Amino acid sequence: MKIAIIGAGFTGLAAGLKLSRFHHQIIIFEKNNSLGGLAETFQLPSWQWAVEKHYHHWFTNDKFALNLIKELGLADNLVFPKTETSLFLHDRIYPFNTPGDVLNFTPLTFAERLLTGFITAYLK
Ligand SMILES: Cc1cc2nc3c(=O)[nH]c(=O)nc-3n(C[C@H](O)[C@H](O)[C@H](O)COP(=O)(O)OP(=O)(O)OC[C@H]3O[C@@H](n4cnc5c(N)ncnc54)[C@H](O)[C@@H]3O)c2cc1C
Repeated sequence: MKIAIIGAGFTGLAAGLKLSRFHHQIIIFEKNNSLGGLAETFQLPSWQWAVEKHYHHWFTNDKFALNLIKELGLADNLVFPKTETSLFLHDRIYPFNTPGDVLNFTPLTFAERLLTGFITAYLK
């Protein structure tokens, strides 16, 4: 079957890859001159690597994306560095890495801090 996909962002490219595995003939139409959509990259001539236009990350439990990266043979490029997160609010920097940091985040009420902690644990 001939299948046309509009848009060479993450979704269009992944759908094209999956459908091509079933021996469909895929054509992807992209209005821009480059691929990637919101996950598009740019690279200056002297750079060794391309950099995303918008900051992106994946979590270690984003199984679909990680399996796709392995399927593409790019797993060796995966790096999960330890990260530090802070919030800047009212001229003050609040560390935001641990459950203790959330409990000490006084701009939220205590109930809101507890709720934030529960939601974060659920999402993890
Ligand atoms: C600042 C920011 C941070 C983000 N951080 C993360 C993150 O950390 N982790 C994460 O998983 N996701 C993140 N996302 C979301 C992620 O970037 C998007 O969900 C994903 O890139 C969307 O892919 P898509 O292919 O569905 O759509 P898009 O990337 O929007 O691709 C659509 C493509 O279709 C093309 N197109 C549109 N109309 C036409 C047309 N008529 N003809 C031809 N081509 C057309 C567009 O040019 C584009 O290339 C972030 C997004 C932003 C903006």
